[in-house]
Order: sequence, then C-alpha cells, then structure tokens
Amino acid sequence: MRIGALEAGGTKMVCAVGREDGTILERKVFPTLRPEQTMPELIGYFQQAGVEALGAACFGPLDLDKTSDTYGYITSTPKAGWQDYPIWHILRSALQVPVGFDTDVNGSVLGEAAYGALRGVETGMYITIGTGIGAGILANGRVLHGMQHPEAGHILLSCHPQDPYEGTCVCHKNCFEGLAAGPALEKRWGKRAEELADIDEVWELEAYYIGQALADYVMLLSPQKIVLGGGVMHQETLLPRIHRQVREQLGGYIRTWQMEHLEQYIVRSELGEDQGILGALKLGQEAARTV
Ligand code: ADP
Ligand code: ZN
Repeated sequence: MRIGALEAGGTKMVCAVGREDGTILERKVFPTLRPEQTMPELIGYFQQAGVEALGAACFGPLDLDKTSDTYGYITSTPKAGWQDYPIWHILRSALQVPVGFDTDVNGSVLGEAAYGALRGVETGMYITIGTGIGAGILANGRVLHGMQHPEAGHILLSCHPQDPYEGTCVCHKNCFEGLAAGPALEKRWGKRAEELADIDEVWELEAYYIGQALADYVMLLSPQKIVLGGGVMHQETLLPRIHRQVREQLGGYIRTWQMEHLEQYIVRSELGEDQGILGALKLGQEAARTV
C-alpha cells in the first residue's frame, strides 16, 4: 500500500510516500506560502504519487474535536491566510482517500513511539524547542488529546531572578515558549541562537527554563521517557545542563531509577528530524485501517 505523509509546518511542507512498515519511498519539500499557492502543489504531489491514504501532522492550533463543525480546521494561527482554514476537508475532498489528522507534535510523538526512542514506552513525551515550543504526549499508549490538544509550550514559568527579559509570547509573555524558544534567545541576547554557542551564561539560563518545564511535566504526567528535538537542541552543551537543572529543580522528591540515570531518561531523538514525517505516515496507516 502506498501511504502519503504530510508534515505541515509554518515554514515548510514535507511530503512523502511510504509503506506500512515505515519505509519512506520518496519525499519532496514545498515552502509554506499562502494556502492558495501551497495546497495545489501538495495535492498535485499526492495525486501523482497515487496514495491510498494520507496522514497529516499539521501546525496549529487545530480543531480536533470530532463532534465540532470545524473539525480539521487550522484555527487561530498568525500565519497569513491559514486562519480558520479547513485543511483536513480540502485534502480529503481533493484526494478522495482516508486522511488521518493531528498536530505536528502529536505526529512527532507517534513517530518516536513507532520508530524512535519511545518504542515500548507507554507514557512519554516528545518536546520540540525551535521557533516555537510544543509537546506531544503519549499517555498509556495513546496520544493525549483531551479538549483539543495540549499546548505544553505555553505553561507559565517563573522568571529567573537575574533575567530582565520579559518574554516574547503575545498571550502570556513568561510562558515556556516566550522565555526559551529560539526567538526569545535572539531577543534576549541580541543574536541568533546559533551564534551564541560559546557563552555559558546563555545556555545555563536556557537550561534553567527547560529544566523548570520538564520538572513540571515530570510531576504532572510521570512520563517514563522524554525525547527532546528542535533546532535549539542542536546546541551541544545544552542537554547535560538540562539534566543538572532537572535534578536540582525536582529537589530529590522523586526517587525512581530514572532519576539516577537522567541521561537515559531525557534524551535527544534518534530519528534526527524524521519523527514528524514518520508520525504522519503512521497517521495515514491508522486512517487506512479505520475505513
Ligand atoms: P522550526 O521550529 O521552525 O520547525 P527548528 O526546529 O529548526 O525550526 O528551530 C529553529 C530555531 O532553532 C531557530 O530559532 C534557530 O535560531 C534555532 N537554532 C538552530 N540551530 C541552532 C543551534 N545550533 N543552536 C541553537 N539554536 C539553534
Ligand atoms: Zn505563551
């Protein structure tokens, strides 16, 4: 069976065709412009590829309430032209195949669970720290949706007493994304995150915020494993600093073997940047199975 996979991001659309065993046969990337420019290209690609089902892992926020009239819409994104956009409906009616649909990070956590570091894990998280911050949560073997989908990048954090920066988020300022995503690093320090590599202070503060968020997730969800990805995690010195901060901020309250082996508990993805597209493929497989 030829299954289509779409990782729909705010800057690029990754399209692929794969098989049920997770093999990617081909892929193509299109820039994310306005929907009237980008959608015909994606649709043309999948039509030509002859896919029998499609999985789409999409930037959000999304309406994922199956009882809602606007299920499958991108809702309040600031991305021009994509507000209130019925992407799931448009893909389904153009391709006439079953279309599985979820958020980008839910796709990534599915990809990690099927092919990556969360294989065999029942409750875990995939967190991306890039232009934005988001997390997909696997809870008792299923992707957690709840009311719509978690927005784990927007949990409020306490500012470090020596950090005068107020945060970038237009809704909350001092949320995780507002204090620690790539654009917050750039605004706080006046340079792009990639150019701040050798400055200890930068990465210690970054680890302080990431550590605070992870300590909250550990307390709330009791994940068995946490996988970190996204551009900011390319910073080599960051992961060991995060381990130190998480240990410190949990304050010895949790005493499991994982706390003694944080390097095996909070890990970088083994899939490079492929967890999203592999998760989309998985969504496509699930859609094909439920028809
Ligand atoms: P997106 O979140 O848009 O999908 P990425 O996950 O690639 O994209 O994240 C982009 C962000 O990561 C940018 O803010 C960029 O400054 C930051 N970034 C990229 N490379 C590095 C690096 N080596 N160190 C720190 N930050 C980086
Ligand atoms: Zn926020």
